Amino acid sequence: MKNILTKDEYLKRIKAVRITAEEIQEKIKETGKLINSWYDGRPMLLVSVLNGSFVFMADICRQLDVPVEIAFMKAESYVGTNSTGTVNITLDLKQDISKYNVVILEDIIDSGRTLKVIVEKLKERNPLSLRVVTLLDKPSRRKVDFTADVALFTIPDFFVIGYGLDCDEYFRNLPYIGEFNEQI
Ligand code: IMP
Ligand code: MG
Repeated sequence: MKNILTKDEYLKRIKAVRITAEEIQEKIKETGKLINSWYDGRPMLLVSVLNGSFVFMADICRQLDVPVEIAFMKAESYVGTNSTGTVNITLDLKQDISKYNVVILEDIIDSGRTLKVIVEKLKERNPLSLRVVTLLDKPSRRKVDFTADVALFTIPDFFVIGYGLDCDEYFRNLPYIGEFNEQI
C-alpha cells in the first residue's frame, strides 16, 4: 500500500541538500558542449531512461545545437529503496537505431544492472555508436561491471532524491539533489 505523505512528513524526509541546482546547471552546460562536439552533426538519438532521467533529459536536450532526436525507454527494477535485482524493459524504442549515434541518459548508476541490460539490448541492434551519460554515479554500490562514458557527479553510498530521482514517486520535482532521510 502506498504511504501518502503530509507536507510535514514530506519535508522531514529531505535530510540535506547534497548538490545544489546551480551546481547541476553548471555541469549540464559543460556536458551539453561535450555532446555537441561528439558526432559532427550526424544523426543523434538521445534516449532517456524513464522515469528518473526525465528532468536530466529536459535540461541536456536544451543545451544541444546539433540535429538530435529524442526517445524514451523504461526499465523497472526498484521497489522503495531496495533493488529487486531483476530488470524488465517495459517501454522500448521504435527507431531502427542502426542509423543513429545513440546517447543514453540515465539518472543514476547504482548496482549497474539496469544499464547493463539496456546497453546489451541496444548493442544487438548495431547502432552507429553508443554512449552512456549519467547524472550520478555510485561506484561503491556496483554489483555488475559497468562504467558510463560520462558521469556528471560521483557520490558516496546514500539514497538520493530530487532532480528526477524519487522515493515512492515523491521528490522528483526538487530542483536539487537531496539526501533522503531513511530514519523516519
Ligand atoms: P541500478 O540498476 O541498480 O544501477 O539502478 C538504477 C536505477 O535505480 C536508477 O535508474 C534509479 O531509478 C534507481 N536508484 C538507484 N539509486 C537510487 C537513489 O539513490 N535514489 C533514487 N533512485 C535510485
Ligand atoms: Mg527510478
